[in-house]
Amino acid sequence: MNQTELNKYKAMLEAKQAELSLGLRNREDIAIEKTPDALDEVQLAGERELAIRNLDRESNLLRSVKGALARMADGSYGICLHCEEDIKPKRLDAVPWTKYCIKCQEAADRHEFESDAGETLGELLANAA
Ligand SMILES: [Zn+2]
Repeated sequence: MNQTELNKYKAMLEAKQAELSLGLRNREDIAIEKTPDALDEVQLAGERELAIRNLDRESNLLRSVKGALARMADGSYGICLHCEEDIKPKRLDAVPWTKYCIKCQEAADRHEFESDAGETLGELLANAA
């Protein structure tokens, strides 16, 4: 991967990171702004659950984005963490924070290998940064 491509993905990742961080930070304000009187308990509980699920998904995504930025810093970005082949540009364009090539992603989705094993170091690096 050349520097131009790297810069492109880096910009995409940083934009996503900023968007997600902002979303996670603003969540509480949004909840407070709501008028509880207008909602019954069930609806409120449902919305809370949905918010928690979204929060969960977004913080997982944020972790993936940070992991990708960490791999960019150590020069392993764009290489599948499982089979160590280059990840196709088309896939990186769609999911720049992906850890796996499409073949390994499909295998991971089918739980053919422990997909979190490769993430540990990246996560540690991301959290340390
Ligand atoms: Zn692979």
